[in-house]
Amino acid sequence: MPGSHAFESLHEQQRKVLKVTTIAERPYVMEKTLPDGTIEGYEGFCIDLLDKLALHLGFEYELNIVRDAKYGRPKANSTEWDGMIGEILNGNADIAVAPITVTARRLEVVDFTDPFLQLGISMLMRTPDKKATASITSFMWPLSPRVWMFSAIGTFLTAFVITLIAVLSPRESPEQFNIKNSFWYLMCILLRAGSGFNCQSSASRIASSVWWTFSLVLIAQYTANFAAVLTVDRKSMPFNSFEELGNQTEYSFGSIYGGSTMQFFQYSRLETFKRIWERMENATPSSFVESNDQGVERVYVFLMESASLEYEVTQNCNLTRVGNIVLGSNGYSIALPKGMKGSRWREKLTRQILDFNEKGIMMMLKNNWWKSSEQTEECQSAQSTGGEEGSGGALDSRILSDCSSYSGQDWLCL
Ligand code: ASP
Repeated sequence: MPGSHAFESLHEQQRKVLKVTTIAERPYVMEKTLPDGTIEGYEGFCIDLLDKLALHLGFEYELNIVRDAKYGRPKANSTEWDGMIGEILNGNADIAVAPITVTARRLEVVDFTDPFLQLGISMLMRTPDKKATASITSFMWPLSPRVWMFSAIGTFLTAFVITLIAVLSPRESPEQFNIKNSFWYLMCILLRAGSGFNCQSSASRIASSVWWTFSLVLIAQYTANFAAVLTVDRKSMPFNSFEELGNQTEYSFGSIYGGSTMQFFQYSRLETFKRIWERMENATPSSFVESNDQGVERVYVFLMESASLEYEVTQNCNLTRVGNIVLGSNGYSIALPKGMKGSRWREKLTRQILDFNEKGIMMMLKNNWWKSSEQTEECQSAQSTGGEEGSGGALDSRILSDCSSYSGQDWLCL
């Protein structure tokens, strides 16, 4: 009889308690802070999803954060796996509910449900805060510090040469071209102003001509860059494709160590991606990180998955997606053991995930967690009033293609 002790214990036995492994990654699984500041349990997209699945499929769960904080890849010189995949394989977990990507290698050892989120690999970059950098020294932006430094050294050296010529040449007056006046003479040439000095000897005329030519190039370069710097918007990037990223050396880039993103570049046969992998592998200090939040903080350009990237740009105005590139099409799925034990749950969970997708529940859950922070809302509205488009914080971020650099291999891009 319902309510009786016998019924309760029978019911208990029938209810399955699943051991769930997951990873602390925002906004999927985050520590829950109560209003009084104490931390109690976890919250996030995956927790909500898990609760909904548990409710609909009638199971209970015991949540554990994966001990080594890894997603899962084969251990070196061993058949064992680390991370959440390892936990499933050694029986410590029944399922993994986390932002874990389906890959061919993982599929060889575990099963996956249909994906609950779609994604591809994208580039996230930290952009400078405009307000913080605009200053009295902004006029120096058009040229790099090195160019300024070498121009100053060049000016002093040329002034010294002109003074020396004036001392040695009988046609020049050393009083007129002393070091101070020579310097003034060169500055006037540089700034297209008259200095009132005129050199007479061939040697100083040759030196002056060389200086004029140099000043012509420098001023042309400065003027050209000045217009570009003044109209620079937050979305103008030093590179716009993976090809360009691999070819430049100025910006460091990285990904999660051992994650599917890293493995994608590690095992790719395409030159562009191989080059990116070599650069990441040989970077010192290491450009690999443990999690997305570490990557966002530490690495200048972070190669990460578009679903997580969309979240990061909603949280920080200084983060921008580079070039709207989404490489490949993949998904986050629930991982389960292979074989009979897993397949029963795989079917149930897949059906339920499809149902959530069709009914818009998944979208609702996502909208709940991918909300813009107050700070980003403010700066996005500031940008739109300034006539600029938002820096990528929109939930329905468009997935555009950037296939030009992969010589027609459009299966690589969405
Ligand atoms: N979600 C990825 C994984 O499953 C982590 C990453 O590489 O971004 O390994």
